[in-house]
Amino acid sequence: MLKKFLPAEHVKSILNITPEQLKARGIKGIITDLDNTLVEWDRPYATPQLIKWFEEIKRNNIKVTIVSNNNEVRVKAFSDPLEIPFIFQARKPMTKAFNKALAQMGLKKEETVVIGDQLLTDVLGGNRSGFHTILVVPVAQTDGFVTKFNRFAERRIMNWFRKKGLLQWED
Ligand SMILES: [Mg+2]
Repeated sequence: MLKKFLPAEHVKSILNITPEQLKARGIKGIITDLDNTLVEWDRPYATPQLIKWFEEIKRNNIKVTIVSNNNEVRVKAFSDPLEIPFIFQARKPMTKAFNKALAQMGLKKEETVVIGDQLLTDVLGGNRSGFHTILVVPVAQTDGFVTKFNRFAERRIMNWFRKKGLLQWED
């Protein structure tokens, strides 16, 4: 059913998610996508604002794992300077990498959110694994090769949700 593609929440940018909001809900961990969620898919390193956001998250004792379908070179080069654990070639929407990240952080599903920019990988995978999912607007308007195909299906699902009033981006 299409409901599996529906995020529990949607926000404009990951930077709009505050540690206070997360802690109020008992969240202690974040599993986040990389490309077009944290930075543009073709930007190699984190922006100053994003570095500040991660510092804020860590200061509040919220753990983070980057879970990406991209390759080791890309994910490692991005994550290592931030000292954030990562899983590459995660094969989302398969559930294995989500569960691995959870085990590594030593948290429960109820204490962890999944954040990403794609319905077909991040949201579907997170929902299937039983996490609270947060969809963000893609950082860039462009996508890598594989993602272009996913976006086509995604647009159709998004339109359906919009028509049903299940999903709308606030301005
Ligand atoms: Mg992405």
